[in-house]
Amino acid sequence: MRALLKKAEPGATLTELNAPEPGPGEALLRVMACSVCGTDLHLYRWDAWARGRVHPPLVFGHEMSGQVVALGPGAEGVKVGDHVSAETHLSCGHCLQCRTGRRHICQKLRIVGVDAPGIFSEYAVLPTENLWVNDQNLPWEIATLQEPFGNAVYTVMDGPGVSGKTVLITGCGPIGLMAILVARACGASLIIASDPSPRRLELARRLGADLALDPREDSVVKSVMDATRGDGADALLEFSGNTSALRQGLQALTYGGQANLLGIPESRVELDLAQEVIFKAVTLRGITGRRVFETWYQVRELVVSGRVDLRPLISHQVPIGRYQEVFEAALHGEAIKPVLFPQER
Ligand code: NAD
Ligand code: ZN
Repeated sequence: MRALLKKAEPGATLTELNAPEPGPGEALLRVMACSVCGTDLHLYRWDAWARGRVHPPLVFGHEMSGQVVALGPGAEGVKVGDHVSAETHLSCGHCLQCRTGRRHICQKLRIVGVDAPGIFSEYAVLPTENLWVNDQNLPWEIATLQEPFGNAVYTVMDGPGVSGKTVLITGCGPIGLMAILVARACGASLIIASDPSPRRLELARRLGADLALDPREDSVVKSVMDATRGDGADALLEFSGNTSALRQGLQALTYGGQANLLGIPESRVELDLAQEVIFKAVTLRGITGRRVFETWYQVRELVVSGRVDLRPLISHQVPIGRYQEVFEAALHGEAIKPVLFPQER
């Protein structure tokens, strides 16, 4: 099979490998579509984080949709022919969190395509307990986007939710943009988005942001205050990992507001904890991955009902052989969600 291999050097190598065989509890999948995520860009660049974490050679990539073609011994929950996507966080099943229904925060969490073989390949093997069965008519290129979309759904829905609330979304990368769709579908009364990229702001407006702010030109805090009669936003949903976005977001929150943080800062962040959190009685939530499988049920209802349309987020749809073009575009900020098709030559 053809596979995109990560070696201990920048870039990636398209190569021929033997298709893997499903072990106990695993399914062999024909990968029909896979999407590129920020994590894959870290591996492609082979930056310090990737060098410290990944043990090459490794087939990388994790966002996927495909079809079950064979089952290993004792594999249950899916059948040959099923269309599936994957929860890409592998949990141990034995720690306190796994045993109390919170496998998304497993103490021994491993990620497909980072700590275990990935899916940028014609065939891949995954534990059936990580598979999510899709409707047969869900397009492959949409089905693969459910995993990052789940990050957005979890971030928007965790805590008291956004129905009838004013929401500030900082960072309009793919996940922040998806959060605009979720917030709109969940009935947010006002959606304000921020990003320094004019192209991403334009897309944010198209997807339903009432106000789209460039933090280099607009005062985000003042704009939010003006738009909320001086009260501030009810919820901050942070998708940039940028320190100043986080701090402005906290300052733009109303007293008693909610801050759900998904964006990952590159280094330590200093907060004015007294003024920005404690005296305002703000609730801060760290958001990681998706709730397994609660979030996937919410994702399915939003996507299949048509309340959310993910198609405008797809920036590229190409055979996997054109991976270099896609990764270069993504590295230059010219992509939103690229989708690769491993079966097309
Ligand atoms: P991305 O890098 O494409 O998006 C980040 C966006 O933030 C970019 O569009 C960038 O222009 C914007 N930005 C930068 N500075 C800003 C500022 N001052 N104000 C507003 N926006 C600013 O990433 P993505 O794939 O959309 O992911 C979003 C974040 O979530 C990343 O930090 C990623 O590492 C993180 N992430 C976390 C999890 C998790 O489980 N916690 C999962 C996936 C991704
Ligand atoms: Zn565990």
